Amino acid sequence: MSTDPYLPGIGTDAATVEHLRVDLDVRLAANRVAGTAVLHLRLLRQAAEVELDLHRLTVDEARAAVDGRALRVRATRPRPRPHRVVVALGEFLPAGTAVELTLRYSGHPVPRRSPWGTIGWEELTDGVLVAGQPHGASTWVPCIDSPAVRQTADITLTTDAGYLPLANGRGTRVRTRGSRETWRWVLDRPVPAYLLTVQIGRYRQVTAPGSAGAPGVPPLRLVVSPRHQARAEQAMAAQGRMMQTFVAAYGPYPFEDYAAVVADEVLEIPLEAAGLSLFGTNHLDGSWESERLIAHEMAHQWFGNAVTLGRWSDLWLHEGFACYSEWLWAEATGRSSVTSMARRAWQGLQAQPEDLVLADPGPEDMFDDRVYKRGALTVVALRRLLGDAAFGEAVRDWVARHAFATVDSTGLRAHLHGWAPRAGVPVGDLDAVLDAWTLRPELPAFPG
Ligand SMILES: [Zn+2]
Repeated sequence: MSTDPYLPGIGTDAATVEHLRVDLDVRLAANRVAGTAVLHLRLLRQAAEVELDLHRLTVDEARAAVDGRALRVRATRPRPRPHRVVVALGEFLPAGTAVELTLRYSGHPVPRRSPWGTIGWEELTDGVLVAGQPHGASTWVPCIDSPAVRQTADITLTTDAGYLPLANGRGTRVRTRGSRETWRWVLDRPVPAYLLTVQIGRYRQVTAPGSAGAPGVPPLRLVVSPRHQARAEQAMAAQGRMMQTFVAAYGPYPFEDYAAVVADEVLEIPLEAAGLSLFGTNHLDGSWESERLIAHEMAHQWFGNAVTLGRWSDLWLHEGFACYSEWLWAEATGRSSVTSMARRAWQGLQAQPEDLVLADPGPEDMFDDRVYKRGALTVVALRRLLGDAAFGEAVRDWVARHAFATVDSTGLRAHLHGWAPRAGVPVGDLDAVLDAWTLRPELPAFPG
């Protein structure tokens, strides 16, 4: 059962996952995985079965227990849906029941095709990346692949020695056996499955320059192949200051640490995951275009990864703030001002069709550049209305209240209603700004 009209047939509203433990063996040359996933599920309503997302991989064995009592479960793949698995629980269980479901699975992972390109597990020339947004987690692990389902994670990866496998959170090498090495990654902040990731390459992990001891700056790691390390260190040298800029604007960094992973390939777009971002070697060219993306991905740790939408129609809540963060960074470095950056974006939008509603752009257009730019302009319009000080406090309060929770556009409006009187702004004025920018297709006047 789908929970999101933008992604029909994905996720379920019958259950949630609170913790996900995965132990995955990855054979790179054959692009074959074999693993065990333990899902700590909680039923949200009475159910005799649960549907999970799992794209093209095979469940070899299913087990389940409630309070240590084994259930007689059976996992089947409903035809003709090669991306779903139905787990029959053997009996009706009441809403609220905690089920520990263990699935042994294997196969050759492949990306999902989608209107936004291929999503999920992708073989590289010499390694693997996972680009999970919006529904790619199911290409490597059985899960409920919907953004409102948040889980902590414990991911163990075994692969060929000489490669560094990465997932989310804190990682350590746990053993080496012959030519195989095993790493374990633990993430103690709950995130949606699409923000969990696997990256494997001939990487080296180093401390990023400029990250030692600055207040509010978590440990910054660079994960990059040795031949690109020097270039990466140069291109990413500003990340410490970037982090300070965003900590000042948005409040404490939400995760334990941050890694910039540079895949050993050219990537069209970088991508955020919980506690890390993925770039291509083309993003190391030192250009402003790359630098703004490095800032953009980092800002997603607050907007998207900690404060996360429940439905994909609200993507502007992630991309608007991430794009606004690029402008904030341009201003922090003295390159430009938020106002000039915003004006350029507004002029760009003027030249485009005004047929997109920001708070419901439709699935085809949800990653359209207009969602990003108009989203950022909405943030600028709100800042103009509330004033810098009240806006800053309102945003930090938004993040603090909703970190590791699900948000929507209506919730942001209600939150700002609470702040408008403190800024001396009539609530009606706030509604007028939000209505014009997020609910109507016409481009409002520049918020200057
Ligand atoms: Zn983004």
